[in-house]
Amino acid sequence: MDRLIIIEGATLAFAECGENLRLPGPEECPEARAAFSFTRGCHSCKVAYMAAPAGMTSLGLREVWPRLDSEEYALAAKGLELANWDRSSRFCPRCGAPVRWHSPISKMCENCSHEYFPQLSPAIIVLIRRGDEALLVHARTFTRPFFGLVAGFVETGETLEECVEREVMEETSLRIKNVRYAGSQAWPYPSNLMIGFTADYAGGELRFADGELTEGGFFDREHLPPLPTPPSIARRLIDEWISNF
Ligand SMILES: [Zn+2]
Repeated sequence: MDRLIIIEGATLAFAECGENLRLPGPEECPEARAAFSFTRGCHSCKVAYMAAPAGMTSLGLREVWPRLDSEEYALAAKGLELANWDRSSRFCPRCGAPVRWHSPISKMCENCSHEYFPQLSPAIIVLIRRGDEALLVHARTFTRPFFGLVAGFVETGETLEECVEREVMEETSLRIKNVRYAGSQAWPYPSNLMIGFTADYAGGELRFADGELTEGGFFDREHLPPLPTPPSIARRLIDEWISNF
């Protein structure tokens, strides 16, 4: 099924669908001119840069994701991520000439013909267990008063497991063991891939040394603080920990 993803700044246009929202179809805004197109699974999407048409609601993706079904969210997320890349990659880093869309997933330089693909910034996120408790933390960057998980960007030259251990040490002063992959999530804010892990506490005293985290601690399932909202991978990892007890 075809969708039209209308983007103005950081907001997208949605049609009301009862209490939920959905992406419009191309027939609902025939005047929209596509800046580019992409596919995801069996869906084909056009992305247009324009104000939301009359009757549609213009909102940021993170505000509306509880009101979108998971496939609509995935399409909107891919469209937003590609749009972020489209708008920030207009010139060739090698020679400075303009670049143009070359395929649904790449651009090419008009001058030197070098082909460019959207860049992802991988980041880890980890649920740390200690007995029947898990470490939940509040980061300086969280915009709401919930407690989530330790997370951080992968650095050049390190493995994902090394990144998990380094971030946990830097942000909490704790040592961990048994680092295990636990799933991933596209995170288009603006171009991250969140890679989830679980780990076990191995030693150390909790200290928020580098200032990224402002508070937190080990919580048991009966005394949980406010949690991140679904469908974030943070919430998924926490829910899995709760249900596996
Ligand atoms: Zn070039």
